[in-house]
Amino acid sequence: MTETVFVGLGSNLGDSSHLLLEGWELIGRYQGVTLENISLPFLSSPVGMASNFWFTNAVGKLQTSCPAGEILDLLLDTEKRLGRVRDRKKQGYQDREIDLDLIYYGAEVMDTPRLTVPHPHRNDRLFVLEPLVTIAPDFVDPETGKSIAEMHRQLKIRIESGSIEPQEISTGGWPL
Ligand code: ATP
Ligand code: CA
Ligand code: CA
Repeated sequence: MTETVFVGLGSNLGDSSHLLLEGWELIGRYQGVTLENISLPFLSSPVGMASNFWFTNAVGKLQTSCPAGEILDLLLDTEKRLGRVRDRKKQGYQDREIDLDLIYYGAEVMDTPRLTVPHPHRNDRLFVLEPLVTIAPDFVDPETGKSIAEMHRQLKIRIESGSIEPQEISTGGWPL
C-alpha cells in the first residue's frame, strides 16, 4: 500500500531554486519514498508576513509506504540539513532558506499537536494552489470535497474581489 503525498516547498533566503531542488532530491533518497514529479518554481510575494524577500515556491508529488508522522519528520529533518534555523525568540513568520510542508497525505484528515493534514492554510494560499493545479488539477481535497482546479479558481475569485489580501505570483524556470 502506498499513499500519494503532496509537499509544498518554499524559500526566501539564499539560492532559493537550488535549495528547493536539493530539498526535493534529499526527500527522494529516503527509504520508502518515490518521487513522482515537481511543478515549476513560482515567484510569490510574501503573504501574512512583513518581509522584503519574495519566495520561490513549488509543489511536489511523491508516493510513500511511510506513515504521515514519518514524512513530517523527514521534511523537518531535510529543512535542518539545508540550514534552516528557527529563532524561537522571534514571533510569527520568519524568512527561511527552506520550508517543507505536508499539504496532503492521501485522503487522510488528521489534527494533532504536531501535524495537521490537509495543511490548514492550503485553501488561502495561491503559492500552494497555483503550482499544485499544474500537477494535480483533479485531485480531490478530502476536507472540502472539491478538486484542486475548483479550489484554485475560487481562491482567485476571492483575491480578485478583494475579500482576502492580494497575492502576486508568476512562473519561473528551474536552473539548468
Ligand atoms: P505554516 O504552517 O503557516 O505554513 P510555517 O510553515 O512557517 O507555517 P513552521 O515553523 O515551518 O511553520 O512549522 C511549525 C510546526 O508546524 C512544525 O514543527 C510541525 O510540527 C507543524 N505542522 C503541523 N502540520 C504541519 C504540516 N501539515 N506540514 C508541516 N508542518 C506541520
Ligand atoms: Ca509553511
Ligand atoms: Ca513549515
